[in-house]
Amino acid sequence: SNEHNQLHFLVVPIGSPGHYIPIIDIAKLLAQHGVRVTIISTPVNTRRYGSVLDQAIQSGLPIRFIEFPFPYAEFGLPEGCESVDDLPSYALIPALTNAYNSLQQEVEHYIEKLDRRPDCIVADSFILWPGDTAKKFQVPRVIFDGMSCFTQMCNHVLYQSKVYENVGEDSFVVPGLPDRFELKRSQLPSALNPNLKYTNDFFEKLRVSESEAYGVVVNSFEELEQAYVDEFKKVRGGKVWCIGPLSLCHNDESEKVQRGNKSSISKHECLEWLDSQETGSVIYVCLGSVSRVEPEQLIELALGLESSNKPFIWVIRAGPHTIKVEQWIDEQGYAERTKDRALLIHGWAPQLLVLSHHAIGGFLTHCGWNSTFEGVALGVPLITLPLFQEQFYNEKQVVQVLRIGVSVRDQNKSGMAIKSDDVKKAIEMVIEGGEDIRKRAKELGKMARNAVEEGGSSYRNMTRLIEDIKKYART
Ligand code: UDP
Repeated sequence: SNEHNQLHFLVVPIGSPGHYIPIIDIAKLLAQHGVRVTIISTPVNTRRYGSVLDQAIQSGLPIRFIEFPFPYAEFGLPEGCESVDDLPSYALIPALTNAYNSLQQEVEHYIEKLDRRPDCIVADSFILWPGDTAKKFQVPRVIFDGMSCFTQMCNHVLYQSKVYENVGEDSFVVPGLPDRFELKRSQLPSALNPNLKYTNDFFEKLRVSESEAYGVVVNSFEELEQAYVDEFKKVRGGKVWCIGPLSLCHNDESEKVQRGNKSSISKHECLEWLDSQETGSVIYVCLGSVSRVEPEQLIELALGLESSNKPFIWVIRAGPHTIKVEQWIDEQGYAERTKDRALLIHGWAPQLLVLSHHAIGGFLTHCGWNSTFEGVALGVPLITLPLFQEQFYNEKQVVQVLRIGVSVRDQNKSGMAIKSDDVKKAIEMVIEGGEDIRKRAKELGKMARNAVEEGGSSYRNMTRLIEDIKKYART
């Protein structure tokens, strides 16, 4: 039957929005290309991203979930904690990782009961067991780690050369890459921090696991960073498939609203506000799903937004770490003061819906790759405020290589601190001064759209990936 000839992929996500949002998009894209997809899920995850896929499933795409119970108690995790942003403390990250790893047996039982083994496992690179499982069942494992090829290459050359081990706190040039740019040791991700013993062991295992993977899918498109794609292909022996921007697989408004979590503002309210603003005038401000910025720093951000005199949307993430900021907003009458030109979203924003609107003129982002690339895909210039991990690489790519953004911190060399005046200046540079920046951002947005359309580079790479797996399955 058709069912039997159809390729079957298992997709294995992990719980953080920055990871599961794009990998669920990958599942959807695979299904659109005719692959049967089974997503390995857990109760909280099904609830969270179920809404994203309900529509895909209703529209007849061959996707389904298979849900396994999550062992909270066994690993000392509070009930319902399945993602880094749920954790009461980062110290529980290893426990969370171990809990995810414990799903291995259940999944293997499931595979054993299938009539035919799956043709491919597409797994988040942060989970280790799919490597073992793939070996055991002789299935190719394709990994996804949510980074650009630029970032992959930064990590690669730094790890290989070890230059960062012998530098002080001054900037140093990242060696052996197509562009010349500098970083500071404090801007490197924890995988390159020799002082973090437990993470080092973990990252060493990750490196081995990644090197053993059959290939890598990347949320990027070739025209964005061809030189880095070519370099990364050399590192990986060719099996690199850039299939993004993944965010562009959502075409209608309701899909954009439901992406990730339940939105804290209605589609209607959000669009009504945006519709009342002039084209290219609004700054959208969001620092992602996991970052925890000190209240004093968020207050500087708030004051900078206010003094910019531009309309803005500010997403204030819910949680214990923002209580003080919410108090400050109340006490100072901040919402009242800015109400004529500000929309404050408390909780989760429908980010794609917002970024797709013509009123948006700039995106002040923490430079998580998903957010950064969502902005790129929609032709929006960026105002960069990286906080940790690979976000500093993404800032370099945006500001110095692609030249479609302005860094908040470069305005005044204030180190890591956020200063309201720097926020204001960076916003002005993009909205008032940055004609070149805006033009280049628009052009990249067009290139991104072309890449995912039929015949575009990302579309063809998706076809190539599927053909490659088909060939593998026949041998
Ligand atoms: N996101 C969203 N609404 C929010 C905050 C985040 O939709 O209020 C989405 C955003 O569109 C992106 C993801 O969550 O797809 C965040 O991933 P990213 O890599 O940017 O940052 P992280 O949260 O992993 O630091």
